[in-house]
Amino acid sequence: MRKDTFIQTGSDYMLFKNLIKNRKSVILSDENIFKLYPQIFEGMDYILIKQGEANKDLHEIQRILEEFTSLGLDRKSIVVGIGGGLVCDMTGFAASIYMRGIDFGFVPTTLLAQVDAAIGGKNGVNFLDYKNYIGTFTQPEFVICDSRFFETLSDIEFKSGLGEVFKYSLLSHGTKLFDYLSENCESILNRDTNKLNYIVNECVDSKTAIVEQDPFDHGIRNTLNLGHTFGHCFELSEKLPHGIAVVTGIKMAANLSVKLGFLKKEIRDNINNLSLILGFDEEVALTDNHIDILLKDKKREDGFIKFILIEDIGITHIHKLTPDQIKGLL
Ligand code: NAD
Repeated sequence: MRKDTFIQTGSDYMLFKNLIKNRKSVILSDENIFKLYPQIFEGMDYILIKQGEANKDLHEIQRILEEFTSLGLDRKSIVVGIGGGLVCDMTGFAASIYMRGIDFGFVPTTLLAQVDAAIGGKNGVNFLDYKNYIGTFTQPEFVICDSRFFETLSDIEFKSGLGEVFKYSLLSHGTKLFDYLSENCESILNRDTNKLNYIVNECVDSKTAIVEQDPFDHGIRNTLNLGHTFGHCFELSEKLPHGIAVVTGIKMAANLSVKLGFLKKEIRDNINNLSLILGFDEEVALTDNHIDILLKDKKREDGFIKFILIEDIGITHIHKLTPDQIKGLL
């Protein structure tokens, strides 16, 4: 990971204005943020991106690049993505290909974007039927996280972000984050700013540590895909929001881990219990259609599908299975 990415959690979102002072700059954002936080845009050039995954494509990137040109951005300019993961992914991608790459920074406004999408340098757009298929690995210059954005987030978007937080609680903290979520469920669900600042900071630290070891996703970074193999299927077929689909995928991965003898049933039950307390009661039965979607997934390699299996809270590993093995096991 680029060592000089400046990341600040529990911050004041307006700090970004100091970080781009005296530079030609443009904000990339969307209509919702523009209406909810008009003060951000005062005195700034800005481009509003169309919302929704269907618009996260090369056509929209073409339009953004044309606007960069009209605004006269040059190689010393900086682009600031202020929005959810979609805005961050498109900002990072557009900036990293414009004039072979100009600087960009993020002010992520959803929980999911603060704990995940804005961290780690992956950016890109959907292509044909494939999610995030075209993109680059390029690190932002800064990431400014402010938990006050969560006050205006819809319940479903908040829950989706919490799904990714739940994922981090199983990854690399031992039981620290898992225990914190268990002990503070109520105030977290009530969006207590201090508790959310703590959680965002923990998740950012966790992701940063993993990305620093494996910036280009050839090894340990794969573990960040915990719950994503099945999660992507459920996102596509059941139209579940990303983070909610990921938790459903995590429960599937936990069952798979028990069946393969890696995870004790009691720990699996603890995982399921915490997910329920956090409000994740969605159940999805696996069908052949899901297996077909799995086969198209980027996590497929030489006929095998890569899963992140759970051994304990805070311990995971990468495991490859064929579609027939998966059908047999589930
Ligand atoms: P999103 O960016 O689509 O935003 C969801 C909605 O919330 C939008 O309508 C947006 O306008 C609105 N919104 C944003 N902030 C708000 C606020 N503070 N108050 C009220 N409304 C607000 O969704 P998301 O869940 O943030 O991000 C999903 C995207 O992130 C997907 O495209 C996914 O592929 C990507 N992603 C990328 C990475 C990565 O590593 N690059 C990781 C995870 C997800």
